[in-house]
Amino acid sequence: MTKRTSQLPGFYKVTVAERRKLVSEATGVEASEIARALDRGGLDAETADKFVENVLGTYSLPYGVALNVRVNGQDHVVPMVVEEPSVVAAASNAAKMVRASGGFTVEIDAPLMISQIQLTHVSDAAAATKAILEAKAEILAMADRAVPGLCARAGGARDLEVRTLGEPSDAMIVVHVIVDCRDAMGANLVNTIAEAVADRLAALAGGRVGLRILSNLCDKRCVRVRCRVAAESLATDDMGGQAVIDGIVNASRFAELDPYRAATHNKGIMNGVDAVVIATGNDWRAVEAGAHAFAARSGRYSPLSIWRRDGDALAGFLEMPLALGTVGGTLRVHPSARLSLQIAGVDASGDLAAIAASVGLASNLAAVRALATDGIQRGHMALHARSVALAAGAEGSEVEGVAAIIVEARDITVEAARRALGVLRQSAPRAKPADVPSSSTVLAEG
Ligand code: NAD
Repeated sequence: MTKRTSQLPGFYKVTVAERRKLVSEATGVEASEIARALDRGGLDAETADKFVENVLGTYSLPYGVALNVRVNGQDHVVPMVVEEPSVVAAASNAAKMVRASGGFTVEIDAPLMISQIQLTHVSDAAAATKAILEAKAEILAMADRAVPGLCARAGGARDLEVRTLGEPSDAMIVVHVIVDCRDAMGANLVNTIAEAVADRLAALAGGRVGLRILSNLCDKRCVRVRCRVAAESLATDDMGGQAVIDGIVNASRFAELDPYRAATHNKGIMNGVDAVVIATGNDWRAVEAGAHAFAARSGRYSPLSIWRRDGDALAGFLEMPLALGTVGGTLRVHPSARLSLQIAGVDASGDLAAIAASVGLASNLAAVRALATDGIQRGHMALHARSVALAAGAEGSEVEGVAAIIVEARDITVEAARRALGVLRQSAPRAKPADVPSSSTVLAEG
């Protein structure tokens, strides 16, 4: 059996075909399987036509892998789908720093989702609450009957809560049925339950049925990630590790005190989380909605992660809700999403959440380290230069050549890239492309 490793030195330097071979060797997934699931974006127009409405075709995004990721002692090569340059390199680089101190340690809650049933026109909220709570066993059994497939897999309704919202003169009752969704994200399962139990709840409350749907603030399904990074891993050419720790703690305090900064801090986390969520065919709008609602739960929008000094080292902590599925939804039908789970080596939804959140904390570390040291633009623009070169018409090996010229000139614009391309095409023999700054120097949030 293949011993999974997430360490693949020199990976960024080799061709796409060689990278597929290396990932195949590291994960045990056949190279032919990788090609089949990723060539032409994995999804043809006919299949796409079964997913959504009014289909004209499909829209591809780059599919990369984060390296060096170690979660609870296990290595994972982590698929990331993202259009933004430097996100994959930044996550891999930060994961390497964390790995040197043992990797990420993650705790995951049970996969509990909240089914909300709104009841209106309730004249006596206290009496309605009492009646519903007394009928808890009956309601939970009714909920379970609506999702036999889930119950057969040891999931199902677990608890019931009753909340009263609004002024007493105009109160509404909201019932939460708490559902263990096992390996499913759970939206459809939970919505099915909401619709199955609503009429009975309305009768118990003496009111009318309002909305029946899940809550995306799935705060009973959180993931908590911790990491520790040694000062020497954080040092740059110009700054010692201890000074970098002070800078990162300062960046964390800024985010803790200021929602304007917290929004961007969290964007840096979501760079990593979303890329994994998309690669695995999961619902990133649901994840985003849950993350930001959770970030604002105290009444003030706050960072999802914090950074502190721990002796001579840096300690990071991230907590966020994360409802991901490894079954159901689009996963059944999207070959690239299925491939991603194989490459990541996960079957259980909690393990996928642990990996996605770890990549989120890695992305955040990369960003705050860059901000506390060189600033974000140096590394970011260096990789952005390749997209600029493409936009200017560079092809094949010209892309790296043009990128190197405009990075050197510190003029990363399409105009500069066109001029560089002209020079490159005139020179005979063609200039050998110089190296653009390596991905290991790139650390992005923006
Ligand atoms: P789903 O409807 O495919 O249900 C999961 C299915 O998988 C069930 O039939 C279940 O019995 C089965 N299953 C097999 N093995 C399982 C296991 N080990 N654990 C759990 N179930 C197992 O999918 P879902 O997760 O209920 O819903 C997800 C979809 O709902 C996503 O596509 C999402 O975009 C969409 N959605 C989201 C929202 C929202 O977030 N607000 C609203 C509506 C729909």
